[in-house]
Amino acid sequence: MFFIYQIRTLTHKVTPCNDLSCPLCGSKAGLELAILQKYAWFLMPMWPEGKFGVAYCGSCQQKIPNVKWTDELEERYYQLKKQTKTPLNLWRGLFINPLLLAAFIGVIAGTVYILAQGNKRNQIENKVLLSEYIAAPKAGDLYRVAVLVTEPTPSYNYTYFRYMNISGDTLFVEKLKTGLPTYGSWDQLNTTEPNAFDGKKIPLSHSVFKKNQDFLIMGEETIHIFFKGVDRAGQTLVKN
Ligand SMILES: [Zn+2]
Repeated sequence: MFFIYQIRTLTHKVTPCNDLSCPLCGSKAGLELAILQKYAWFLMPMWPEGKFGVAYCGSCQQKIPNVKWTDELEERYYQLKKQTKTPLNLWRGLFINPLLLAAFIGVIAGTVYILAQGNKRNQIENKVLLSEYIAAPKAGDLYRVAVLVTEPTPSYNYTYFRYMNISGDTLFVEKLKTGLPTYGSWDQLNTTEPNAFDGKKIPLSHSVFKKNQDFLIMGEETIHIFFKGVDRAGQTLVKN
């Protein structure tokens, strides 16, 4: 696994060392020694790294470079460093972060699962509803169709059939006068204007429609009009 963490610095304490003289200006007032510690940080401290010291003189207002440290200063540093315990909470991320990660993965997985279940349920409901609509047509039902046109070159014409009536196994529909050559363009077709449909009764086999969800014209043997969905009361059920 890969993640990015930062290195941060914790200042444990700053100790005045007025008994020591500054290696830079010689003053005995104002020398202080800070004990610091680096630690890895990701959302919170994860693990501690090395401690180190910074010496600063308030008189000459300079940080004293390590190479300039006197033996006394160095000795004082080791002494203070030894007294400074690494706090346990610098380790806490190492224990808590895996739990956070597990919780995060759990939430993501749970959400994905719920969405997938919802989607599956919708698909099943849609399928059931579509079968019901086909089995019991209602006045005003509009069937989205793709008509295979062979001349001059094979292509599809996307248009609507409107349910007229049913007699025995024959389902009568009329065709919209207009059509479009682009898939999914049904919404652009005007089905509401007067005389939008041609009024010529097309006899379709209801049993084939129910069984295959495609249109077979009575007396024909091959299907060349494909059912793509139904619009009823402003809602569309798409055949998957
Ligand atoms: Zn100084």
